[in-house]
Amino acid sequence: MQIKKNDCYIITIEDMNESGEGVGKTDGYTLFVKDTVIGDVAEVKVIKAKKNYGYARLVKVVKPSVYRVEPVCKVARQCGGCQLQALRYEEQLRFKERKIKNNLERIGKFQGLDMEPIIGMEKPFRYRNKAQFPIGLNKDGEIVAGFYAGRTHSIIESDDCVIGAEVNYRILDIVKGFMKEFGIAPYDEERHFGVVRHVLIRVGYKTGQVMVCVIINGDKLDFGDRLVEKLLVIPGMTSISFNVNKEKGNVILGHKIVNLYGDGYIFDYIGDVQYRISPLSFYQVNPMQTEKLYKVALEYAGLSGNEVVWDLYCGIGTISLFLAQQAKQVYGVEIVADAIRDARENARLNGMENVEFFVGKAEEVLPKMYERERVYAEVIVVDPPRKGCEQAVLDTMVEMGPERIVYVSCDSATLARDLRYLCDRGYEVGNVQGVDMFGMTGCVECVCLMTRKEK
Ligand code: SAH
Repeated sequence: MQIKKNDCYIITIEDMNESGEGVGKTDGYTLFVKDTVIGDVAEVKVIKAKKNYGYARLVKVVKPSVYRVEPVCKVARQCGGCQLQALRYEEQLRFKERKIKNNLERIGKFQGLDMEPIIGMEKPFRYRNKAQFPIGLNKDGEIVAGFYAGRTHSIIESDDCVIGAEVNYRILDIVKGFMKEFGIAPYDEERHFGVVRHVLIRVGYKTGQVMVCVIINGDKLDFGDRLVEKLLVIPGMTSISFNVNKEKGNVILGHKIVNLYGDGYIFDYIGDVQYRISPLSFYQVNPMQTEKLYKVALEYAGLSGNEVVWDLYCGIGTISLFLAQQAKQVYGVEIVADAIRDARENARLNGMENVEFFVGKAEEVLPKMYERERVYAEVIVVDPPRKGCEQAVLDTMVEMGPERIVYVSCDSATLARDLRYLCDRGYEVGNVQGVDMFGMTGCVECVCLMTRKEK
């Protein structure tokens, strides 16, 4: 049967994809339907029909799924951020577990893996320590803060994101009030005109320190001292600054930070390790779950204090420093030079002398160091971006032959591919542990232990 645009069907939603669209079938033909959840029986209308699959719009939920819940956030549907809010949290976790398992089985061809139950959040809301709110005008000409609607640049008004910190709302209120009082216009993307583009807020989860950085199209924020005065009523306010971004386009932050109050950074802890965070530096957005994730990575690394460990794709050295607490020596490799600067600063801050960081591509640094100096490792930890490890990294790891490889991944598809590669070359998969770092969204982290098979 040929499926055509505007055809209507009643289907059962059997799964969800990464973007949170429900997935159902009619006559073996797969349809993706936004705003549906697993278990819904839904009437849908086809909006785009390809050869083997298509997209449909939800017309009506005929029978709601038992897993369906009312989203906490009023704009959950329009906002691009939370794809799974209409799905009960326990079911979100099942969905993420299934996703990891399916990828390992389908792509990695692993059978009968022993997967640990996923580590969920105690409270899956209010977990993000960082938010970047675009500022604009609504149709009545009022200053609003919010989020870009999925895949567009129109602002959905919402200054209380339910996965963000509670204090965000108060801060945005103050900034908006300040703009109104002093006649400071929001930035208009289309006309490349106006001043305030975004407000970046970061909160130290353990320290309670708060950072506000206003991103402006200009070199100077007029009446900045008055903004400082107003923001200082917020408990924990530690750093207030503005960032200069006069470029067109959708990159949020420019390179220049001007401090209005404080030294430009806040501090936070993961476990006992202290990190210095500036507006431009990368830091994990869910510190509570990050600590759990790193604990698993540390446990899998099985350190006794005598090991040499390589931490590839180390960012600002968060995992490296965590491992350094229990290893003889840790080497970190990261492509972004600024991140390595932060990593070295953080090592100094914690008085750790057994860590060394290298700037460069993991696929270049590691092979070179191995060729030239025969560097070795008992344990290698990798935490690559979504595309996974380059083959040169995998090949060099195999040659170095560490006893254990700990693979931290934010994409279980590339994880599965890389594990298969390593398994065909002398390693075997031990434990696999999912950790939910991003409740309400479709993303999931996973840590996997690989051990070298006895020859
Ligand atoms: N382990 C860190 C960061 C992981 S994110 C943490 O937990 O905080 C992945 C990191 O890999 C990013 O910092 C990114 O800049 C870096 N990266 C991307 N491609 C790389 C490459 N080819 N070689 C080394 N690092 C790379």
